Amino acid sequence: MRAQSAITLSAAAEGGCLCGAVRYRVTPGALSESGYCHCRTCQRQSGAPVVAWFAVPQDRLTYLAGAPARYRASDRASREYCSNCGTYLLFREDDSAATLGINTATLDDPSLAPPEFHIYVESRIDWFDTADSLPRHSRGKG
Ligand SMILES: [Zn+2]
Ligand SMILES: [Zn+2]
Repeated sequence: MRAQSAITLSAAAEGGCLCGAVRYRVTPGALSESGYCHCRTCQRQSGAPVVAWFAVPQDRLTYLAGAPARYRASDRASREYCSNCGTYLLFREDDSAATLGINTATLDDPSLAPPEFHIYVESRIDWFDTADSLPRHSRGKG
C-alpha cells in the first residue's frame, strides 16, 4: 500500500480497550492516512459524534492480549471491539490488501496520529464541529 499520510510512527505504538483485556501494537513506519469520519455507522458504533482513525496495512497490527469480538455492519467489513467493556477498536475490510482503520483514541498516546482530513461531513451533527482548517469531504476522499 502506498503511504499517503505525512505522519510516521518512529517507534511501535500500543493501545487497547478501556478495561485492558484487549491490547494491540502497531509497528513503526508511515501511516497510510489519518482522519475524522462523521458517517452514521461510525457514530452509532462508537456512540460518539465523530471517530478519529488512522490507517495502516493489516500486517502492521498485532494483538498482544485478548481477542476482539467482531460485528459486521456491512457485507465487506467487520468492526472489532472488546466483548467485555465494549470499546470499538478498529475497522477491518474483508480484502486483506485493504488498510485497517484503527480508532486513534484507543492508542495509549493518541497524539501520535493527528487527523489530517474529515470524511462524510454530509453526516456531521450540526451541534458538533472541530476548530481546524483540514480538508473536508462530503463523503469519501474520492
Ligand atoms: Zn475491554
Ligand atoms: Zn465512518
